[in-house]
Amino acid sequence: MKITEHIKNANGKTLFSFELLPPVKGQRIENIYDAIDPLMEFKPPFIDVTYHREDFIYKQHPNGLLEQVSYRKRPGTVAICAAIINRYKVDAVPHLICGGFTKEETENALIDLQFLGIDNVLVLRGDARKGDASFIPTPGGHAYATDLLQQVVNLNRGVYLHDNSDAQKSDFCIGVAAYPEKHFEAPNMKTDFDYLKMKIDMGANFIVTQMFFDNQKYFDFVNLCRENGITVPIIPGLKPITSSKQLVSLPKIFHLDLPEDLTKAITSCTSEKDVKEVGIEFMIEQCKELIKFGAPVLHFYTMSNPGPTKRIAEAIF
Ligand code: FAD
Repeated sequence: MKITEHIKNANGKTLFSFELLPPVKGQRIENIYDAIDPLMEFKPPFIDVTYHREDFIYKQHPNGLLEQVSYRKRPGTVAICAAIINRYKVDAVPHLICGGFTKEETENALIDLQFLGIDNVLVLRGDARKGDASFIPTPGGHAYATDLLQQVVNLNRGVYLHDNSDAQKSDFCIGVAAYPEKHFEAPNMKTDFDYLKMKIDMGANFIVTQMFFDNQKYFDFVNLCRENGITVPIIPGLKPITSSKQLVSLPKIFHLDLPEDLTKAITSCTSEKDVKEVGIEFMIEQCKELIKFGAPVLHFYTMSNPGPTKRIAEAIF
């Protein structure tokens, strides 16, 4: 079922969902089930699975020369989605990214998803590869999420890349990302917002936000969207702080601000166990406020570690 239908059917009740990372290469599907099983009691209507582009590693030859080798650390997104649908009978939402795919490969991936009965996709540009200073599009692929979105919208209209004879229309419900605190490459909030508006005008059906810890940023962002005619569901992305190191790593990686009261509470902890408790309690209060505001879904970035999310969901749902 489409995410927009799940939200409509909930009649204003806030739903629970979460995101998983495919395990690193060499792990078993049971690792995924271990990350999902503890959260199923909260009845997620859908589960997202991230997509990870290839990185480069360097192999040294006996003569000392280094060879650059392309390597995907976390393969398996589509297969994990199929396994989730099969085992849990809930919708799985694969993330689709520009990086690493030609347009032909994207079209073939979308056909696979259709055949698997996947109704929703989250369309993204994707992160830069580790060794690259910024995002480098794959030759023959897309440079921005808007370009990839156009391809999915075209497929929904029955427009394939080359041969349209007898083409069936797909019917994907399409999500896009948004940044209540601005995407880090955007020169200002207005420019970033204009591209988001473009994505919605092109046909995106729902929005999932980057994580944030100050609800006011989400409230202001939702109001900005509504004032500018964006009516689609805006799903807040959430992640509890679980270690003191994240006071530095989260702002660095995700370009967000951590509220002063949260920062102070964490720095005054005397153990990592206490930090985790502070992070969970803070997120519980954040969730209560988001529900009061009318957030359609609370979507947790579990990083495949279900423990903290389970504690929060127990207090909320
Ligand atoms: P875009 O919308 O393409 O935006 C990128 C930048 O370009 C922005 O600054 C924007 O303002 C600007 N821009 C947008 N459109 C245009 C245009 N047409 N012309 C010029 N400029 C433009 N990464 C992964 O690799 N795998 C994942 O599974 C993944 N999942 C994510 C899930 C969520 C909910 C979020 C919020 C992020 C996720 N990411 C993932 C990270 C994401 O790929 C990065 O944040 C990336 O840098 C931007 O992706 P985007 O889709 O927002 O890009």
